[in-house]
Amino acid sequence: GKGAAMVTAVAYRLAAQRKQIDAALAPFLLSLETLREVKNKMRTELEYGLKRETQASATVKMLPTYVCGTPDGTEKGKFLALDLGGTNFRVLLVKIRSGRRRSVQMYNKIFAIPLEIMQGTGEELFDHIVQCIADFLEYMGIKGARLPLGFTFSFPCRQASIDKGTLVGWTKGFKATDCEGEDVVDMLREAIRRRNEFDLDIVAVVNDTVGTMMTCGYEDPNCEIGLIAGTGSNVCYMEDMKNIEIVEGNEGKMCINTEWGGFGDNGCIDNIRTKYDKEVDEGSLNPGKQRYEKMTSGMYLGEIVRQILIDLTKQGLLFRGQISESLRKRGIFETKFLSQIESDRLALLQVRRILQQLGLDSTCEDSIIVKEVCGAVSRRAAQLCGAGLAAIVEKKREDRGVDHLQITVGVDGTLYKLHPHFSRVLRETVKELAPQCDVTFMLSEDGSGKGAALITAVAKRLHNVGQK
Ligand code: BGC
Ligand code: MG
Repeated sequence: GKGAAMVTAVAYRLAAQRKQIDAALAPFLLSLETLREVKNKMRTELEYGLKRETQASATVKMLPTYVCGTPDGTEKGKFLALDLGGTNFRVLLVKIRSGRRRSVQMYNKIFAIPLEIMQGTGEELFDHIVQCIADFLEYMGIKGARLPLGFTFSFPCRQASIDKGTLVGWTKGFKATDCEGEDVVDMLREAIRRRNEFDLDIVAVVNDTVGTMMTCGYEDPNCEIGLIAGTGSNVCYMEDMKNIEIVEGNEGKMCINTEWGGFGDNGCIDNIRTKYDKEVDEGSLNPGKQRYEKMTSGMYLGEIVRQILIDLTKQGLLFRGQISESLRKRGIFETKFLSQIESDRLALLQVRRILQQLGLDSTCEDSIIVKEVCGAVSRRAAQLCGAGLAAIVEKKREDRGVDHLQITVGVDGTLYKLHPHFSRVLRETVKELAPQCDVTFMLSEDGSGKGAALITAVAKRLHNVGQK
């Protein structure tokens, strides 16, 4: 009778809803076949970046870092380090001891960089950085000391030596004017001179991936790769000099900052980009750039989720069809919220509470769908990142001419550290796509800061030896 008809109607509605949700999420399910393709394309782009004729137009820039070896334990001294470009801006004092009592001690302070400074003028940005250094020196009571400084600057830089780095282009949330094409070390020196209060000896400019690799390399000499899966996404690795065509010399190795975030900027992975990815790209500070990064890193995953939720709401499948003020806000789903929503330890009621905190009124059904959307987006991110990493370890295996490679990857980044599933899916994907490589993932404890100090120590040591 009437009751049965109503039940049938509800069942139909649910089935139809299911279909629409599945349809929206289908492009996020990548087959093994597709992931293999991504790995192969990444490999091709890595090679373009290394070759003299193709490197200028390569989307994976493969930037030489002039870091030629890992620390050997003889490094020592007191160093300052700056860490700019991750979730936080920090100033650090690092004390390194060598010999039998080998150890690293660190003191650091986190400073905020207001949005108007991240996106103001270069002079304002660097004046702000120097202001933070001054506060830190004052705080530590070492204002008079002229310490060597390592600058972890987590953006693409073309380097001609360890202490020079020309910013190729801003990424992530930065867009200060008059910096692109300029040497960031010069800009820092000039800001210190403008302030005319203290002097520092800027010894090295370092990408965060390189700092991470060096930090893990201090413990494990087998660590020849550094990975960041955080606000941004990037990898560095030790490459044979003979393969780096734009740097003179064929002996030994040099660390290459791949800047793989730019993978796909030539359209080579457009077949897997969804309409949501395109919307996120168009609404970003750097449209058309860093397409792979925008599918794999913390700064953008929440934005992809938000675009899907808006679409599902428009289709009447979520939030009673009402797009709230909050859902319109860019950046509401930070990595920490995604991580909480996807945690299996949270009951749905708690998921609803998190959504409430973000200003989203949800039903129980809504919260199930939101969790499902987050899962699809973060899983794809981990798989894509794994496909990229598989290309790197496979390259290293082939270059070494071995059937089986054992290698350690130093890792840092909020997405890798906070997310409940990202690291596992990443590892599984690498294993699947590079079965001849035995990859150990080593979490770096504060890679950016410690690594910058270690590199500074190595550079100082080599420099002093050279002067004798
Ligand atoms: C930058 C890289 C950096 C990565 C992780 C990217 O946006 O281009 O230089 O290593 O983020 O912080
Ligand atoms: Mg960092």
